[in-house]
This record gives sequence, structure tokens and C-alpha cells, in this order.
Amino acid sequence: MFDLEEYEILMSGFMEFATEKAQYQPSTLTRYKVILDDYFHSNVIDKVERNNYSEIFSRERLSLLRRKSNNVRPSLLRFLYFLYDEKFIEELDYYQLQNNVKSTFGSEEQEKEDSVEFLTPNEIRTLFSDQLTYKYEYEEKMLPLICSLSFFYMFKQEDVIKLTLSDIVLEKQRIRNVRRTEENSDLVEWLSLNDITVKYLKTYLTYRQTLLYPDDALLVMENEPLDNNKINKLFNCFERRDNKVLFGNKKVHQSLLTRSMMLYILISTNGIGLYQILLEQEMNTALDHAFNEYLSIVRTENKNELYDRYNIEEILPKKKRAVDVNVGFYSELNDVNQKDIGDYDMNNNRNLENSKLTIQRMVRDSKISRYLRNQYDNECQLCGYRLRKSNGEYYSEAHHIQPYNKVHRGDDNSNNLIVLCPNCHTQFDDLYYVIHPETQKVHCIFGEDDQYHLEMLAMKEGHILNSKYLEYTWKLFEEKKRTLVSKVVL
Ligand SMILES: [Zn+2]
Repeated sequence: MFDLEEYEILMSGFMEFATEKAQYQPSTLTRYKVILDDYFHSNVIDKVERNNYSEIFSRERLSLLRRKSNNVRPSLLRFLYFLYDEKFIEELDYYQLQNNVKSTFGSEEQEKEDSVEFLTPNEIRTLFSDQLTYKYEYEEKMLPLICSLSFFYMFKQEDVIKLTLSDIVLEKQRIRNVRRTEENSDLVEWLSLNDITVKYLKTYLTYRQTLLYPDDALLVMENEPLDNNKINKLFNCFERRDNKVLFGNKKVHQSLLTRSMMLYILISTNGIGLYQILLEQEMNTALDHAFNEYLSIVRTENKNELYDRYNIEEILPKKKRAVDVNVGFYSELNDVNQKDIGDYDMNNNRNLENSKLTIQRMVRDSKISRYLRNQYDNECQLCGYRLRKSNGEYYSEAHHIQPYNKVHRGDDNSNNLIVLCPNCHTQFDDLYYVIHPETQKVHCIFGEDDQYHLEMLAMKEGHILNSKYLEYTWKLFEEKKRTLVSKVVL
């Protein structure tokens, strides 16, 4: 009988074949395996004689498979191809069985729909080299720029179309994030342009001047602003024979570029880059595909090889020297402040290594901390001060009692948060102040010397501090006190 062991041997062979020889996308392979497992477990194992592939892939048996997803047909066909390639089945049988699958499951179109592809690092390098062949001047000036906007900034076609001349500030190497449509959106407003894009922009802008086009649309083709049809026409460039071979016959289009970049960000940041992407845009299909692909890679056994396969570091913008980060004995240095948002916005949001920290900080400026600061009307819970800024708004900071960072692993919820002015915040961070876990009175490390020693924090109704956080930090405070005393004695 064809038993479970037999199936598992075949399946591990198929997985190896699929990743190494056929190089299927890991997420695609995961979907195939679900279907094959289902079919073999319910309809083949212990039901068919060993090596009887004609029976395993007979129309009668295939029609027992109840699944109707688009992946059914390609998963069975590819498994069959593997059996043929590894000489489990003869050529003539192979064609017969292939026909059985094809006549039992849907049309060829369904087969194509299934594959969500990504560009390889080599293909990306090719894309931003001078290897592409053009027919018209507008193609040569615009296509590399549009590819660059779609890849590095993950702009969709509609975003690219929206761009105006004033969305580009070349001197500062910035481009407006046109996906951000509302004033108070959580998305960042500006993105930094990398050298590759600046180069294409300069070339294009020089060309655009010669068009004498009066409107402020950035991208102009055949003397009209760009629209979806025109972009598609530009992308048809890739269908020409000379260009097509450069991309392994993959159909290059805007969403392929966008999701490839997303995948590379996720891989090169071990997933943390998801936050970066979400600071620039809302969740969408491209991100969904890229994230699924990333998760499938993470779950794959030989993921290190896959990481290498996806390594595009050298074509991403050059890394700057990493910022020194001092996560001290007790510190909330990693918490968000206005400067971080400014820095992120202005400088290095493409610099993955540096921005990782900024992103972590920004993510920490969570809804809950904003909500609390609002509840307290930005008034310091210890000293009552409301700091006013030049724009007339008030400013306060949320302090995590048990620090919300890798070292101390506090939580980001209101039971671990208080609202402070920057001065008091610094002193709490320094463990100059601490809250007693039982009395909830503020203690100063120098005791009576300080005016707020043994004061109570102003607490709004319903805002309750959890004693586990207070106890955690109280211990740190006592430890610090001991080390201070021993220093004084020495
Ligand atoms: Zn204060």
C-alpha cells in the first residue's frame, strides 16, 4: 500500500525540488503543500497500491478532492512534474496524468492567477542599470523614474499620477508622501529621496522643461498628464523581447516592484520594517502578499539560504554610521519625542539600520499614551506644569513606570503610564523619583531635600497604576540608592 511514510518521502523530495531546482516562492509552496497534504491524506494514503501513479492521478480519484481554490491545479501539476523529473513516472504516463489534472480542474487562467511573484535581487539590479532598451525618448526619461518611485517609495500607480512639481524638493532630497491625504494622519509627510531616484529625477526634470507643459503635474507624457493607461503603456516596454529576457519572462509591473521592496524591507529588518512600511502607507494587498511571503520564508527550514537569495543590501541606499544608543541601567531613552519624529521625517527613513530605533520609538508613541496626555490636558501629574510651545499647543510626555524596552520589558498600557512634563520625566527616568508601590507616594532619592518627596501624583478617575510595575521600579530605585550610598562611603 501507498502509506504515510511513502508520502512523506515524496513530499520532502518535492519541497527540496521546489525550493532548490524550481525556485517556487515559499508562500506559493506553502499553499501547494496544504492542498497536496489534503489530497493524499484523504484520498490516497492506505487506499492505493504503491507506485500506482495512474490510479493516484486518475480522474475518478482526483475528483474526490473537494477543494476548489486556484492553487489546486498548479499544485497537482507541479507535483506531477516533480515525479516525472525524478523519474518516478514515464514520459507517456506523465502527459496522460497531466491531462487528467487539467480536465478535472479548471482553466489555465486560474493557474496564472495563483502565482504572486517577486523580483530577484539580480533583476532589481538590472532594473536600475542601463541595460533596458527603449524606443521613445519619453520611455527613456520616465520609465526608470517611475520604477524607482514604485520600488523605493512603494508608490502605487495612483500615487505616481498624483505627484506635482511642488511634491519634490530636490535641494533637500525630499518627496511628499502623497498617500497621506489627511492633516492628522499617522503617516509621515515627507520621504527622503535616494541617490538613484535623484539621478532619474534630474534627468527627467531637464527633459520636462523642454516640453513647455504649463500645468504642475510632475509626470507628463505625450503632452498630457500621466494616467493609468499611459503608465501601462510605459510598462509595456518590459514586454519587448530584449527587455523580457532580462527578467526571466516575468511580467514587470508597478505592484510587482512595490511588493518586492516590501519583502526586502521585511527580510533585512527581521520583520521590524513592517512598522516603517505602515508609517508610510496603510495596509494593502501588496503588503499582505509581501508579509505572507516573509512569514513563509521565516517558517522555512533552510531560511538562511533564502535570506541570501533575497539580499539586496548593496542596492539599497548606503548605511550611515549607526547612532550610539545607550540603554542604561534604567532609562526610557528609547521613548518617542518630537525630535525623533522630525528626524525620521527629514533624514533617514530609508536608512533601515538607523531608522529601526526611530521606528521603535515612534511606535511607542502609542494611541494609549496620546489618549492619556489628552486626558490630563498635558498637565504634569507631579508638578502640575503645562509646557507651552511656540505654536500655542501644550506639550507633555508619557512615562512608562516599568520601562517599555528590550531590557526591562514593561507594558504599554495605562496601568504602566503617567503623564509628565519633560523635567519631571527626566527625573523619573533618572530614578531620582519613584512611586512607592503601596502608598503610591513619590519618593525622591535625596529624601526630604526635595519639594515633591512624599507627594501624591494627581490621578484622574479610572487611571490606576498596577502595583507589579511599581514594585519592579521600586526595586531598581532601592538598588540605585544602595550604589549611591556605597560610593559616598568610599
Ligand atoms: Zn513636572
